[in-house]
Amino acid sequence: MELLVDSYGRRIKSLRISITDKCNFRCTYCMPAEGLPWLKKAEILSYEEIERIARVAISIGIEQIRLTGGEPLVRRDIPDLVRQLRKIEGLRSLSLTTNGILLKQQAGALAEAGLTRINVSLDSLVREKFAKLTRRDQLARVLEGLEELERYPTIHPIKVNAVAIKDYSEEEVLDFVRLARRKAYVMRWIEFMPLDADQIWRKEDILTEAEYGPLVPITTGDPSETARRYTFSDGRGEVGFINPVSEPFCATCDRIRLTADGQLRTCLFATEETDLRAILRSNASDEDLAKAIRQAIWNKELKHYIGDKRFKRANRSMSMIGG
Ligand code: SAM
Repeated sequence: MELLVDSYGRRIKSLRISITDKCNFRCTYCMPAEGLPWLKKAEILSYEEIERIARVAISIGIEQIRLTGGEPLVRRDIPDLVRQLRKIEGLRSLSLTTNGILLKQQAGALAEAGLTRINVSLDSLVREKFAKLTRRDQLARVLEGLEELERYPTIHPIKVNAVAIKDYSEEEVLDFVRLARRKAYVMRWIEFMPLDADQIWRKEDILTEAEYGPLVPITTGDPSETARRYTFSDGRGEVGFINPVSEPFCATCDRIRLTADGQLRTCLFATEETDLRAILRSNASDEDLAKAIRQAIWNKELKHYIGDKRFKRANRSMSMIGG
């Protein structure tokens, strides 16, 4: 089989699929308090359509799929989708990114359906701060969801992702570090990116890794690894930093994204999309779909230009893309 590569020679292996634009949180750095104009049901890809795109993408070289949103667990019967995707030959990894609020009820069904990796977004361990940021007073339920996950060792690792925001995240760094040492959670801080619907992002709000103390680096040799990973001198626990703004990893980016309404995006900050939904719904063949995916990948952007005069904000916020 030919490898999937773009015009800069990057090998593309990973597909992030947003299965809904809706979310039950209203994180201030992502969505306005009143939400966004949601997509209509007919605009959203059905599970059959998602499965078909995934199958075609895997047949031409995609190896990893991550389900995201919006909040993916608000869409009904997601274990059914997981089960269908799991069956596709050639899929090496199937993961989910969630805010965790519905995990207590759904972790068991997801594990049983064949989910093997998970990222839970959690920006604060302090109830009031969490409530203010997400505009939902639900920290306890997220922590319960994480505990529930621990009962299903086939879902591994359990990653906890926090957006690092200046004057917000600093005081809790050690609490998160302690959590990563006490529990089997891998902790990641991700820099705040200009993908918020309210356009509040300012470069000064990014909290960079330099603020944290020295740790022992972990190297895997995987060039597409986005996180700088560290363990502690006694080897217990892992933390990491994902620095798309201060240290862009575009040169080794192996990702593409499918939005809930079937648009293929080859960069988080893309200003153009490929309408796979229109192709799907025009009775096209799998070969036609494969051709469109290959073509979009070939045209993948060189880099995102944040901090450069050439930077243009994407026309969608993170929740509308699928983070
Ligand atoms: N609802 C799910 C969740 O909370 O993980 C999946 C979708 S959410 C858009 C995915 C991730 O994007 C979350 O970790 C969220 O914190 C992150 N995110 C949203 N807006 C962001 C921004 N402007 N900069 C950095 N990360 C952002």
